[in-house]
Amino acid sequence: MHKQKSPGAVFCRKILFLLTLALTAFPAGGENPLTVYITNSGRRYHREDCSSLRRSRVPVSLEDAVRSGYEPCLVCNPPVLSSPVPGRAGIYRVNREEPAGCEGVDFSRLIWGEVVDHVDGDTIRVRIPNPPAELRTLETVRLIGVDTPETVHPRRGLEAFGKEASDFTKTRLLGETVYLAFDWELRDRYGRLLAYVYTQDRRCHNAEIIRQGFGHAYTRYSFRFMEEFRSLEQEARQKKRGLWGS
Ligand SMILES: [Zn+2]
Repeated sequence: MHKQKSPGAVFCRKILFLLTLALTAFPAGGENPLTVYITNSGRRYHREDCSSLRRSRVPVSLEDAVRSGYEPCLVCNPPVLSSPVPGRAGIYRVNREEPAGCEGVDFSRLIWGEVVDHVDGDTIRVRIPNPPAELRTLETVRLIGVDTPETVHPRRGLEAFGKEASDFTKTRLLGETVYLAFDWELRDRYGRLLAYVYTQDRRCHNAEIIRQGFGHAYTRYSFRFMEEFRSLEQEARQKKRGLWGS
């Protein structure tokens, strides 16, 4: 027998629909995320003026703090999220998730960290608070699928445009919060983390380097967005951007 839907169930579905609409219109990590502060060792997040922040203070968005498992401080009583966020981010691997393009990844599921140092155009160091089991708190991250001219290579020394490429990454990433997605291989033979690195505006920095002519697509090892990166390089060459201009 076919049962009539109860008015309660219909109401619930309407609410769910409206919630979905609201989430689409105002995606997580939108224009003005609330900033809270965490420390290098603690498991709680704080207001800016909390006395617990005397030794270290790292600004993060409220949402990122909650998603990474931080609890509100009991002393300074910082803001809490009005709606729950999905569980703590894990290892997001584009080879398993198969997003349509480099910038089609699900940001709500990416690991985030702070860029604390920069090595050259395609290598940075990232501090990951509260990392999942596969990762460490401080990681050297090699960007997947892109190669920039060398600045610190022991044999090759400084290559043409190496400084510019290095400065490009430094300017865009150093001190910033970034989001990490992974591919087939999690690490290279030097133990460096292999990742796609996303800025807060949700752009893929790996692709951005190639798009703006600060490096070329590195196709020696296969990766999920190889064709996309190849065509970005083609375009940069045609338009004589960056290192293709000289
Ligand atoms: Zn506090």
